[in-house]
Order: sequence, then structure tokens, then C-alpha cells
Amino acid sequence: MKKSKHAVETTNLSISWGAINVLDQLNFELNEGEKLAIVGPSGSGKSTILKILAGLILPTEGELRIFGEKQKYLRLDQNSPPDVRLVFQNPALLGSLTVEENVGFLLKRNKNLTKKLIHEIVSECLAEVGLFNVENKLPNELSGGMQKRVSFARALITDQTLNTNTKPLLLFDEPTAGLDPIASSRIEDLINKTNNKAKGSSIVVSHVLSTIERTSDKVLMLYGGKFRWAGSIDEFKESNDPYVFQFRHGKLDGPMQPKDI
Ligand code: ADP
Ligand code: MG
Repeated sequence: MKKSKHAVETTNLSISWGAINVLDQLNFELNEGEKLAIVGPSGSGKSTILKILAGLILPTEGELRIFGEKQKYLRLDQNSPPDVRLVFQNPALLGSLTVEENVGFLLKRNKNLTKKLIHEIVSECLAEVGLFNVENKLPNELSGGMQKRVSFARALITDQTLNTNTKPLLLFDEPTAGLDPIASSRIEDLINKTNNKAKGSSIVVSHVLSTIERTSDKVLMLYGGKFRWAGSIDEFKESNDPYVFQFRHGKLDGPMQPKDI
């Protein structure tokens, strides 16, 4: 894989559903090791960006490079797809598989790994997220919060025999939506822990201020298909930009209006 300091680089990335340009010629870069928050109101296209980065949907136009490698679509066309891990808003575990099978799913492809070794790697990742002795349980035997932790453990799984020195790109979609402030803090800690453990780059999509502020170095504000503001997390806290101000204070008046969505 070509060396690049950019984990992500997009050129005029666009996607339309029918006549609506949900993402309209977006250009952005994420340096390796950096932590980015993409923020914006509901329906602005945040999840769509993550799905494109994860190779789940195709842009209508534009170019995407991940770790310097131009992405062909979908990932199945690629010999060495990049290590991109998307943590969905809901845990998205496979209901008929045990926790161990869910978390160790990727490792099973590798015939060189013994069952015992997979079990050890999975248990280690589960311990990282504070889960013990749940390997043989089915997802519906766990609480919602525990299921969420399992989905984080799944994002931590690395097959060291294959990816000798890949640093993953971690994507988190609304990780704390609908959680109380204490549960949110725990998830935010978990995001930071997952980032540190994986030694990767990350993009968190969120409209929860504490999550944005606690998990990111820089912020992009998406609205009406375009990035309206970009800056560091400290600038985001202080900015008087009309988009940032309206978003942070939940104001009804401002540049973002329902008719535009
Ligand atoms: P966000 O995550 O910021 O809330 P989304 O990325 O989910 O926004 O969606 C952005 C817009 O694209 C919304 O208006 C949504 O209705 C539309 N959209 C998303 N997926 C599809 C699809 N598969 N078909 C048609 N419209 C879609
Ligand atoms: Mg979304």
C-alpha cells in the first residue's frame, strides 16, 4: 500500500438521491492519527458519508482515497481493501451468533488461526470494553448497553497475522444518541480507549456536544450538502460562526431551516 499521511482524502465527493444532492462536491482530508467529528442536523448526510467511507454505498461523483489508495467500488473489487471499521448507531450484531462469533467473525476467514487463539483474541477485546464471561451468550441475552460494548469490541478485532502494521480508520455513527449523560460519558471514554488501542484515525458523527468535544480534535459542519465550517475543537467551542452558533445553542433562527433539509 502506498504511503500517505492522509487517512482519508476526498475530491468533489457527491451523492444524489433522485433530484436531491445530499453531498455536493465535498473535499476534505483526515490526517493519519487524527480524530474528526462531522456534525450537522438530522438528514444532512452524515451517515451517508460514513457509508461511503466504509464502502457500503457508492458516490455518484468524485474520488475517494483511503490511506492514499484510490477506492474502487465496492470493496469486493479490491485485492487489499483498507482497514475501515464502522460502528453503527445500533449495535447491528448478528442475532443467531454468540458474542464470540460476532466479535471474532473476521478472524474465522483465516484458516491459520486456531479456535483457541480466536477465543483468546476475542476475550481480550471484550475485556478491553469491560465485558467478561459473555462469550457464549447470544446478543438478546445482553442489555442494550452491553450489546453496544460488544459492537465496540468487534471494532477492536485485528488479525495480526494478516495486517502486520495497518492502522485502522474507525467510524462511529451517532454513538451516544439517546443515551443519558452518564452513559454517554462511558461511551465517549470507550471511543477514546478504542482509538488509543487501535492506534488509528477516527471519524465520529454526532450531534451530542459532549461527544463531539470529548472525542475529537477537529470538526466539520455539514449542512445542505456542503461543509459550512471547519476548525479545531477549541475553535468550535468559541466560534461565532452562524452555523456553529445555531447548532451549539439549538437556536431556531439561523442559517439552518427545516425547509432546506
Ligand atoms: P444524517 O445521518 O445526517 O441524519 P443521512 O446521511 O442518513 O443523514 O441522510 C441524508 C439524506 O439522504 C436524508 O435526507 C435522507 O432521507 C436521504 N437518504 C439517505 N439514504 C437514502 C436512500 N437510500 N434513498 C433515498 N434517500 C436517502
Ligand atoms: Mg445518521
